[in-house]
Amino acid sequence: MSFRSRKGDSVKIFILWTVLLLFSSTLAVGEQALDLARHRIVDLSHAYGPSTIYWPTSPSKFTLEQLASGMTEGGYFYAANRFCTPEHGGTHFDAPIHFSEAGFTADKVPLEQLVAPAVVIDVSARASGDRDYRLTRDDVLAFEKANGAITRGTIVLLRTGWSRHWPDAKAYLGDDTPGNASKLSFPSYGREAAELLVEARGVTALGIDTASIDYGRSTGFEVHRIAAARNVPGLENLTNLDQLPARGALVVALPMKIEGGSGGPLRAVALVPHQRP
Ligand SMILES: [Zn+2]
Repeated sequence: MSFRSRKGDSVKIFILWTVLLLFSSTLAVGEQALDLARHRIVDLSHAYGPSTIYWPTSPSKFTLEQLASGMTEGGYFYAANRFCTPEHGGTHFDAPIHFSEAGFTADKVPLEQLVAPAVVIDVSARASGDRDYRLTRDDVLAFEKANGAITRGTIVLLRTGWSRHWPDAKAYLGDDTPGNASKLSFPSYGREAAELLVEARGVTALGIDTASIDYGRSTGFEVHRIAAARNVPGLENLTNLDQLPARGALVVALPMKIEGGSGGPLRAVALVPHQRP
């Protein structure tokens, strides 16, 4: 009898401890995920302005026109402008419909694809020696060997170091002849790496710190087509990727919600957990 009752007590204590442990670990995870004080926020977007880089064949660039700026008759200050920009220039979003007729338009891409954990693959050393460098399948496998598998639902950011050239269009694009995009030269994803990431790993977006998720010399835009076919958007002309860890950052990449848009201006940030002492 007394044995039974002690056993009953220890079962109760065990259950109580389990519940407490589960509760406290949930709290800890919740705090880590939601406490902004435990993260620094890194801006991944260039500002739009007169020096914003566009594709050489773009019909126009960013313009900002002042509509009002000054004191009103009512005695208060008032400022307002209007802006105009092609969808694909500056730090911007490629909706899947950009290269797939059946793909999502900018307003229809699920937010789960745009707010997600990120991995940063660094090819800046290789790209500095070869400005036409393309990420290889072996680069992705080597990254996974060193940092763990790239899981479904991840945003991939490819760091080439190219934003150091911004806003020097000739250095950044390789050529700045207006109306001619046939002599561009900058690094990006390679076809087989894109297939591995998009089709086998199921990543939700491909980001890059150059002008395109296809390298500058591309004429067939294979990476755009591979990604768009799976409704995977592109995040182009990103910056500050050198401030992110290989993994552990949460990316929030929210484009302007243009109804029917093929892309648009993008404000992207990364939440990077502070290193534990
Ligand atoms: Zn684009």
